[in-house]
Amino acid sequence: MDNYLVWKENRSTEEVRPDSIARQYHDRIAFTVIETCAIYCRHCFRKELVVDQDLKLRMDVDEGLAWIAEHPEIRDVLITGGDPLLLSDEKLAHLIGRLREIPHVEMIRIGSRLPIVLPQRITEGLKKAIGGFHKVPVWINTQCNHPKEITEETERAVYELLSCGINVGNQAVLLKGINDDVETFRELHQKLLRIRIRPYYVFYCEPAPGIDHFRTPVEKGAELIRDALRGHTTGLAQPMYVLATNIGKVPLMPDYYMIEKNDKEYVLRNHQGKTTKIPNIPE
Ligand SMILES: *Cc1c(COP(=O)(O)O)cnc(C)c1O
Ligand code: SF4
Repeated sequence: MDNYLVWKENRSTEEVRPDSIARQYHDRIAFTVIETCAIYCRHCFRKELVVDQDLKLRMDVDEGLAWIAEHPEIRDVLITGGDPLLLSDEKLAHLIGRLREIPHVEMIRIGSRLPIVLPQRITEGLKKAIGGFHKVPVWINTQCNHPKEITEETERAVYELLSCGINVGNQAVLLKGINDDVETFRELHQKLLRIRIRPYYVFYCEPAPGIDHFRTPVEKGAELIRDALRGHTTGLAQPMYVLATNIGKVPLMPDYYMIEKNDKEYVLRNHQGKTTKIPNIPE
């Protein structure tokens, strides 16, 4: 669930960091704890890393934990892979427990496709390992790209996560011919909410060998938010559309709202094309 560009960038910067730590921001990092996924998604660059031995990195969890402990500015740790929920319950309990002991870590996020592709992984043992009431909350961001990926098993797994205090969000990838039409895009986001998953991001599909036929023009995601979501359905169903780049995630949202602005007023437009004015307060 991470990104190739970031990874390559991370390896060439000067600050010395363990291979497992990818840093783009001051207060948070991506921490890779495992290299394998449960499935290798057709649209993902990940399979390249599995095939190409030259790209093998050394993922040492204790080394990463030590780095985090030495960096008091890190308040948010995003655990990624591979798929971190493929680790055993014992390893996850160790990892989450150690992170929770670091005084400056305020929150933990786990990127995992398992609630969608292997919801059976959400067991009582897993809930014990990573759930429960703690001062350091856990979020799981999963990846669901099409309403057909949502099954009753997933619905149940999400409920189990929420009921032990784990928040669940979604990071979809925009895929041409899969979810880039207005109906599918809206249904995906409505259905996610219906099973209690909060849409968080929609990612522009990054380049990788053999996947150009899944890639859309860059603007497509913003257009879909404009035409399928904003004003057309529940506000909670609205993700942010982002491009994952080597300098961090860059949001690209629809730009039809503001038609005109000057010192005195703003002219705004809504999803139906209606306009209104609000006065501006000059500084
Ligand atoms: C995606 C990512 C994060 C988290 O970004 P948010 O916008 O806070 O979700 C942090 N570090 C790296 C390296 C990332 O790729
Ligand atoms: S689970 Fe995530 S990292 Fe693994 S192949 Fe699928 S999208 Fe890529």
